[in-house]
Amino acid sequence: MAGTKNNTLKLKFDTARDYAPAPESKSAATIQPRYDLFINGKFEKPLSKKYFATINPATEEKLSEVADANAADVDRAVVAARQAYNKTWKNMPAKERGKYIFRIARIMQERARELAVIETLDGGKPIRESRDFDIPTAANHFFYYAGWADKLEYAFPNRQTNPLGVAGQIIPWNFPLLMAAWKIAPALATGNTVVLKPAETTPLTALTLAEIIREADLPPGVVNIITGAGETGSALVNHKDIDKVAFTGSTEVGKIIQRAIAGTNKKATLELGGKAANIIFDDAPLDQAVEGVINGIFFNQGHVCCAGSRLYVQESVYKQVLRKLKDRLETLIVGDPMDKNTDIGAINSKQQLANIHKYLKIGQQEGAEMYQPSGVLPKKGFFCAPTIFTNVAQSSRISQEEIFGPVLTIQTFRTDDEVIEKANNSPYGLSAGVWTDKGSKIFNLTTKLRAGVVWANTYNQFDPTSPFGGYKESGYGREGGLHGLTPYVNLI
Ligand code: NAD
Repeated sequence: MAGTKNNTLKLKFDTARDYAPAPESKSAATIQPRYDLFINGKFEKPLSKKYFATINPATEEKLSEVADANAADVDRAVVAARQAYNKTWKNMPAKERGKYIFRIARIMQERARELAVIETLDGGKPIRESRDFDIPTAANHFFYYAGWADKLEYAFPNRQTNPLGVAGQIIPWNFPLLMAAWKIAPALATGNTVVLKPAETTPLTALTLAEIIREADLPPGVVNIITGAGETGSALVNHKDIDKVAFTGSTEVGKIIQRAIAGTNKKATLELGGKAANIIFDDAPLDQAVEGVINGIFFNQGHVCCAGSRLYVQESVYKQVLRKLKDRLETLIVGDPMDKNTDIGAINSKQQLANIHKYLKIGQQEGAEMYQPSGVLPKKGFFCAPTIFTNVAQSSRISQEEIFGPVLTIQTFRTDDEVIEKANNSPYGLSAGVWTDKGSKIFNLTTKLRAGVVWANTYNQFDPTSPFGGYKESGYGREGGLHGLTPYVNLI
């Protein structure tokens, strides 16, 4: 393996024993052996009579089985959402709608530990992330949009807002509960009802959210949560009685959805893939920048649409940055996601791990130099060592295509114009990062980088008040903030 032969650095990622284990307890959560479909306020057996397993990617053990909704099940959920829209939700005073959304947020906070454990067991992300980022941010989205429910006249001054009707919402596996919150909270605040389909590998927190929604006494049918894979998603997108598709996932599926709804009245927001550039100038505080780069790509195993997967370093500090990056890589702990010391957890599925390995091979075949700290990964489960590629060509597949794993490509640049051109030379345009001491440089780049979000001297910061979304093949529409209300209303 290139880069590991002459590795003289101390290896840490197989030696988590340097730290006393600090495992979170599985008993903080109760996972049912089987989950049905959440339709009209009740858990209903699927008409398909089929179920599929959801596993823990860190141990490959089955956690539970969930219903596999067919077209008839999707229809039941859409009918329930339509009835709830007509009979209850659209006519409910906005203040009352807001109260329900607040209630959901508060119960999520009360059950935060349980949700974090389920998220980590089902998805493989480190418990530290589920506990400190995913779950609180998801609850915050409900709090934030609850506040907007009765203030839409201030969000859209001098305009009348009407809800769209029934929203069909489809989400991916990288931030399961957070993506559900991004979708459901603004839809409810604006008076729409919802049918949500989580990803097939991470359905459990969405189903726990269904329990929370029931506990919050939300009127039946306002939120319906159905499980299944691509066919279920497709049946939802193609259902005649939905008014809006909100999709987060791959660009490939986004294109299929766009074709499917062409010529219909369905509105859509598509939040798709990314290949973000993270740019370090020679005047940047380098240690801080390196920490930001590590956070930007290795956070959540690189399963982040806005992951800073392409690093551009100004030539004069390249060697320094590379050494610092390699040093820091040595200290990262890869392993049991339930251990609070773990930095990099499990890759979400066997299929995704195979996809990452495919790109590691492609990178080497393309002539790039691969570096991984040479530790031993856990024998069971789906794990990938953090990887960096140097000597990378701008046109190479590893620098152009989304890998969606803990893999970083590194290139150099000399001038601002050169790096702007290189950063924008991508089919994607979701996010970017800039590290420099100069405010003027930040403003120059933020106006020229074709990316929906540009972070300056930080990375991967999210807040419910701030909009998020992309350009080009990263999709269209914005989620979060005031902007996140717009896709759910007709403005008159
Ligand atoms: P995916 O596109 O394979 O699946 C996403 C969802 O779509 C899943 O629920 C899946 O079951 C469903 N689906 C699959 N085929 C479908 C079809 N034909 N019709 C309708 N639904 C269908 O994506 P993934 O692998 O789950 O997630 C990773 C991708 O998501 C990455 O590309 C990542 O960049 C992207 N992502 C984007 C954002 C963003 O905000 N832009 C956020 C998170 C993830």
